[in-house]
Parts: sequence; C-alpha cells; structure tokens
Amino acid sequence: MSMKYISTRGGMDPIGFQEAVLTGLAPDGGLLLPQELPETSGHLKDWSQLSYKELAFEILRLFVDIPDGDLQNLIEQGYKKFRHNEIAPLVKVDDFYVQELFHGPTLAFKDIALQLLGPLFSYILEQRGGELNVLGATSGDTGSAAIHGLRGRKHIKIFVMHPRGRVSPLQEKQMTSVLDENVFNLAIEGNFDDCQNIMKSIFGRSEFKKSYSLGSVNSVNWARVLAQMVYYFYATFRAQGGDIEQKVQFSVPTGNFGDILAGYLATRMGLPIEQLILATNENDILSRFFNSNEYSTRQVVSTLSPSMDIQVASNFERYLYYRVGSDPHKIRSLMEDFSKRSRIDIAPLAPGEEVISAANSNTTQTLETIRKYKTNHAYLLDPHSAVGVHVAERKRIAGIPLVCLATAHPAKFSQAIIQATGEEPHHPILDALKDAPTRCENLPNDEVAVRQYLQENIKLT
Ligand SMILES: *Cc1c(COP(=O)(O)O)cnc(C)c1O
Repeated sequence: MSMKYISTRGGMDPIGFQEAVLTGLAPDGGLLLPQELPETSGHLKDWSQLSYKELAFEILRLFVDIPDGDLQNLIEQGYKKFRHNEIAPLVKVDDFYVQELFHGPTLAFKDIALQLLGPLFSYILEQRGGELNVLGATSGDTGSAAIHGLRGRKHIKIFVMHPRGRVSPLQEKQMTSVLDENVFNLAIEGNFDDCQNIMKSIFGRSEFKKSYSLGSVNSVNWARVLAQMVYYFYATFRAQGGDIEQKVQFSVPTGNFGDILAGYLATRMGLPIEQLILATNENDILSRFFNSNEYSTRQVVSTLSPSMDIQVASNFERYLYYRVGSDPHKIRSLMEDFSKRSRIDIAPLAPGEEVISAANSNTTQTLETIRKYKTNHAYLLDPHSAVGVHVAERKRIAGIPLVCLATAHPAKFSQAIIQATGEEPHHPILDALKDAPTRCENLPNDEVAVRQYLQENIKLT
C-alpha cells in the first residue's frame, strides 16, 4: 500500500503521491500531508553509510507511488547538475559544521528540491498524459531555481513574471539567460505585488486555469518538502561521527518555513534531532511565534537576506497541524481566525516539548558574522547563512553537534559581502552570465495582456 495524502483542513479524500504533486494546494485551501509519517528509527543504522542519492532513494520510496527503478532514475537525473559529488557536503568551520546546500545550478538551496521536481513532473505527466504550464511570480531566487529545474523538460512550459528592473541584475540574468524553448520570462511593468496579483487573478479563473493546464511550483508543493528531508538525514549521520544514537542540532535560515519544516518532519520520523534553531532576519513573525505563541503579521522590511523577507510563512500551516494534535477542525478554525484578524494564538507547549527554538539576527549582527568567519576561520558565509550562524551562536546547546545550513553561495549576494568584508566574491558560473545572451518579454501591468500572452504561447491540442 503506498502512501496517501490528506489536507490539513480535512476537506479532501486521500489522494496518491503523483496526484498530490500535481495538486499543490488542496481544494479546501489546506496543505497536503501524508496520512501517516513513516517511522525510520529502525533504518538509521543501515542508512548511515549511504551516499546522498542512495539515501534520497530510501527516504523517497516511503512516500511515493513510483516503481523503485523509475525512482532511482529520477534521482539520478535530479542531481546530475550538482557540482559537488556529495550534493550537500558538510564543512567543518570552527567547532561546528556548515552544510552547503548551494552546489546546484542557481547556487541556492531551492535547487535541491526544484532540480528533482523537473524530472518528477515530466515523469508524472508521461504516466498520466497531458501537459503542465507553470505560472509563477518571483522577486528573484525562486523564479530562477524553478526555471533551471524545468528548462528543457518534456510536456512542460514555464512562465515566470518578475517586476521589470526591480530584481537584482544578477538574478535577472540567471533567469533570462535560459534560452530553452519551454521557458518564458515576462518582465512586468510594475512591482512584485503587481506580479503576484496578476498570478492570483489568473489562477482565480478556474475555467482558464483548467483549459490551459496551469499549475505552480511554489514552496508548498509536497515534493519540495520531501526532497528537503534528505539532507537532514545525510547531515545527521555525518555529524554523529559513527554513533547513531548521538543527537544533533540544526540551525536553519528561515523564510517560508519550507526548509525547517522538512527538518521538523524528519524529527517526527525518528531522526535524533535535539533542537532545530529557527533563524530569521528583521522579518521575525516566526521567531515571535516561537517565543510568545502569537502569530501576527507586520509590514515586510527589505534586508540583506531578501529570500527570507516574508510576511506570512506559507508552510507554517503544516507545522500547526501537528502542533494541534493532527486535528483538521482546529486548523480550519485557526486559519479562519487568521484570515479575519491576521493573528493566531495557541497555547504554549510544556517546557521541553518544543523542538524548535527561534531568534533573529539584524543587519549589523549579520554583517559582523560574515566578517568574523571570514577573518577568523577563512570561511565566507552568504547573508542568509550568516543569519543562521549568528542565531546558532546564541541558541546552541553545548555538547551537541551543530549543523548550520548554508542556503546560498556568497557570490549571489555580493553587495552584502562587499559591505561586510570590502572584497567582492566571485563564482565562475555567475561571472560567465555577464556576456550571456538573454530572452525576455516586456508586458504591461495588466492581467489581460498576460493572459493573452499565455494563450498565444500555449497551443491547445
Ligand atoms: C528560500 C530561501 C531561504 C528560506 O527558506 P524557506 O524554506 O522559505 O524558509 C533561505 N535562504 C535562501 C538563500 C533561500 O533562497
């Protein structure tokens, strides 16, 4: 019997994995979760010796309805563009580990999930027939990881809107230099909210959405969370140094709660994690929640770690589901409350019950952290990873191996690095983009124009 998926809000009959991947958001507005999380404690000893891809296979096969041989194939394809043979290697820095999640094509952690999602989508569409036209809006990072994940894939086209002239020149280049025929970059004459509003209103037209097979690859897609679980297992085995009982702690630079959710689920599956340190920048809704049990939104401010500049963390509902005892009725009423009052209050857990602890790092602390590790340990952190390391310094439990997740290569955020160290970091992939040819369509800030563009470029058969 293969795993079935349910909605956090309870309003959906259980569905299989392939359908869950295509569905994204549940029809009742909830998020998809496996009906039951598998217990992995009994496997840890055997798994501790596996390579990254072998481990990915063992973990993913617990969750999917795909034959083993096909799954192995998908994992091979998904990770073939990584430039490090360990995929997500650990580096010893000072007395802890940094796990580098940025060896994929766009030099950021989203590649770990989105590189796998490309072949997975193609495979599912081949099994079930049909095509998929992904529409997205980006302020930078996710758009380029999605484009690189889906470029050249059969049965798939991807349309990504970005606010014209308002994403960093480097991020724009990373997107528009992808010339594959199935990739469409749309520069919208407006800001990021305008792009998101266009996307929402197009997705709100259910007839249009259906006839043009529109879908998305946003961070709530279950396959993305699943792919991210693997590196927690991989890092735990290495940080344990041979003792599979040894507990480990992680520090996770957090925005939409997708990365740390994967660690939380791994903990629930029996991986010996003592603590997950949730690190935010000045946009600290999540660290406020974990310190005061109150989830309330404020204005988003721009920081040096833009991929963590969020207001509402889209994956948080999955955590809440477990937090309220897997009760979909409670989730439904909490989320209704939230949409009315923009806040959620829930009772605190008993001391020692919560595996997540949280704090934030401000701009000064983040810059200081980058400078300090460069000077004292010859290791260059990007501003997102530096937020995680700074918060870990304050929150770590002594005597327990610590892994700090590094979510981007420093050369992607060179302005912050120059500010911190006075030196400009480089990466050959990014340097090569300077002279790369580009393709991009300029469109007005107008839903009708975007819809027309989609119609012209998606040929109905
Ligand atoms: C997306 C992203 C994050 C935040 O991850 P979430 O899953 O949204 O919490 C952190 N750092 C970088 C570089 C990212 O791209």
